[in-house]
Amino acid sequence: MHTQLSTMSEKAQHYLDLEQQYGAHNYHPLPVVLERGQGVFVWDVDGNRYYDFLSGYSAVNQGHCHPAIVSAFTAQAQQLTLTSRAFHSNLLGEYAQYITSFFGYNKVLPMNTGVEAVETGLKLCRKWGYEVKGIPDGQAKVIVCTGNFHGRTMGVISFSSDPSSTTHFGPYLPGFISIPYNDLSALAEALKDPSVAGFLVEPIQGEAGVVVPDEGYLAAARQLCTDANVLLIADEIQTGLARTGLMLACDHEAVRPDILLLGKALSGGMLPVSAVLADDEVMLTIGPGEHGSTYGGNPLACRTAIAALQVLKDEQMAEQATAMGELLRHGLQQLHSPHIGLIRGKGLLNAIVIKHSNPDAAWQLCLELKENGLLAKPTHGDKIRFAPPLVITAEQIEECVAIIGRSLHCLD
Ligand code: PLP
Repeated sequence: MHTQLSTMSEKAQHYLDLEQQYGAHNYHPLPVVLERGQGVFVWDVDGNRYYDFLSGYSAVNQGHCHPAIVSAFTAQAQQLTLTSRAFHSNLLGEYAQYITSFFGYNKVLPMNTGVEAVETGLKLCRKWGYEVKGIPDGQAKVIVCTGNFHGRTMGVISFSSDPSSTTHFGPYLPGFISIPYNDLSALAEALKDPSVAGFLVEPIQGEAGVVVPDEGYLAAARQLCTDANVLLIADEIQTGLARTGLMLACDHEAVRPDILLLGKALSGGMLPVSAVLADDEVMLTIGPGEHGSTYGGNPLACRTAIAALQVLKDEQMAEQATAMGELLRHGLQQLHSPHIGLIRGKGLLNAIVIKHSNPDAAWQLCLELKENGLLAKPTHGDKIRFAPPLVITAEQIEECVAIIGRSLHCLD
């Protein structure tokens, strides 16, 4: 295995040093310092151009700095950005109407980050469990899956199976039952407990390395939840918004979750915008003062999210994700690389599993990809996610496959 890496420029090293000295060390980024983005490309401080194959963990599905979203964002930024929820704004109602009819729910609860949407979904689920289902107070449980990633707040790490998320952050929040992902009999068994209020699931486990469950898993899980009078909570924060080839990954199996969690690309990368969608029976269990956020539903977010969703529809980005995803997976297969153990994914949410004796091989490959003009990041050691913005063209996919093919030789 050999990797020839160019040393960082003095300029790039300067920014890196600043981060290292003054920023918390809670990330391990690739050594590249970006200063500009447009569509599928980002540029570093030395003017080098890269294909972005991470898309901000699927936050920039619409491509970097999409002109229609930038224009909506800047216009609103000059008009009104924040009212808090102490007052009404002229945009919250319009946005709520827009997003609920877009996804077919009665109501939306707007938040900011993805993990806040998850926390909100869990609170709603517990409230519904007590006030509608009739679970005795303090006993509600939510079923979750091992290998999940739903964020990193105290509540959410309480049911993480990843030691780096949990170690020395206890004590953890009780009330969760963990079952293996993609295991319907484990779900059926767990649902026998009458104090279960919800089942929280990612339609595809993104952070775990793009783990796609068996066909029919979500539809069967939906039926099991319905039969048990349990809410299906779909975390579509990474899989949603056209990424997997349909507007929602649940749409592949015509599954309608009771609680839908969205984030990331809901703003096309402009600012943190997340949303929880549900029908009245669930949503109206939370009343004034029981949940909220200063920035949740702010006019800037509302205006930006409408534009971000509209762009996905107008530019048929879901169809684009299907076509380009097939091209990408096919191209990767044609490489016949001995270092690729597995290629998996749906639409433009894909990953390869690296087969190599060196446990650092995926990281080494990402460094080499960077040298060759493509940015991707390993997840869980040996997996590399390939999730470019959905505006990528067929020609660009071909060029990227060639870059990946060339780079893989660093592992020979
Ligand atoms: N849920 C899923 C499926 C995610 O992939 C992520 C982030 O990667 C989150 C929740 C948390 O989102 P955020 O980082 O915006 O809090």
